[in-house]
Amino acid sequence: MDTWKPKTKLVHAGTKRSQFGELSEAMFLTQGFAYDTAEAAEARFIETQEDEYIYARYGNPTVRMFEERIAALEGAEDAFATASGMAAVSGTLFSMLRAGDHIVSAKALFGSCLYIVDDVLRRWGIEVTLVDGTDLDAWRAAMQPNTKVCFLEALSNPTLEVIDIAGVAEITHAAGATLVVDNVFVTPMFQRTLELGADVVIYSATKHIDGQGRVMGGVVLGTREFIRKTFEPFNKHTGPCMSPFNAWVLLKGMETLALRCDAQADTAQAVSDAVEGHNKLSRAIYPFAHSHPQQALAKAQMTKGGTMLALDISGGKDGAFRFLNALKIVTLSNNLGDAKSLTTHPATTTHQRLTDAERAGLGITDGLVRLSMGLEDTDDLVADILQALDAV
Ligand SMILES: *Cc1c(COP(=O)(O)O)cnc(C)c1O
Repeated sequence: MDTWKPKTKLVHAGTKRSQFGELSEAMFLTQGFAYDTAEAAEARFIETQEDEYIYARYGNPTVRMFEERIAALEGAEDAFATASGMAAVSGTLFSMLRAGDHIVSAKALFGSCLYIVDDVLRRWGIEVTLVDGTDLDAWRAAMQPNTKVCFLEALSNPTLEVIDIAGVAEITHAAGATLVVDNVFVTPMFQRTLELGADVVIYSATKHIDGQGRVMGGVVLGTREFIRKTFEPFNKHTGPCMSPFNAWVLLKGMETLALRCDAQADTAQAVSDAVEGHNKLSRAIYPFAHSHPQQALAKAQMTKGGTMLALDISGGKDGAFRFLNALKIVTLSNNLGDAKSLTTHPATTTHQRLTDAERAGLGITDGLVRLSMGLEDTDDLVADILQALDAV
């Protein structure tokens, strides 16, 4: 299996068949597991072997198939699935940090990630330094003797800044700390994040991995040592386990993940090309666009530019709302990575909670809209976006 290419792993990795030889992965909707003897129960609690289970909060065969499939894809030794992407992010940070420790984080984060880092961790006595993630000198200057974790989103939400993962990894490791990367916006398809130097990679499986808007899920990937000794004890005792039903949906989602991500990224690139220099835009942001200040870094790190774009519409909030209300195919929703193309206005939704100054610091202007390109026909989507710009 190690020599298989990603598309083969996405279809076959982690599959385990029961005695019935079912072709499609089985859904094991069971909380508990029976033991043949009291001795067998005792042995399983002393040390659980592979393919042995105790309780579904600790592990479940369908969830395990999902974990093994995504670990194979990412090239990670091990993985642990969680109830949501935020359970994966918060569990990772809570399991690694204690009062008195220090974390350095990029400041451009998904809203809930920012709440965990900047609010909860501080309340629990953890020192927090937020830096401009694109500035390696800022990362270097932020390191302290008690720095345990560096955290970033490889492609930031919503302004699609590209962070130099190898550069931050080198600084992190020189300080003896661990680099945790939330890779949701890049997807598992377009970047070898562990090979670039990340120690732990996190996905919200709710996004591209499901990709059809059905279930919540998350996953943490890293060394076996980290997953089993640090993450698993925290997550299995605090409780946010993945449901076997959701794991089954996500296994089916992974079978088509490569095809979907490729098609969605190709459409995002086509939209980026079509709107470049448009007179109703003050800025069009796409990592592979010539106008992106980090196009070269993006092309060195990623195989495609991703499925997301951000457009800064002329006329501020008024212009942005005219654009959003004129769209006929692209749907207003704060989700992303879906088969349906989606768009959101971060200033009034996902980042509404921030002050004007905080939003300005993150480049979230009143005219900015975020687009997640779906699986509809590329020409239809380009036409829809261009006609909505005409309405501005
Ligand atoms: C959606 C998202 C999360 C949280 O995932 P949920 O599954 O919604 O809990 C975390 N980070 C990023 C970058 C996301 O886009």
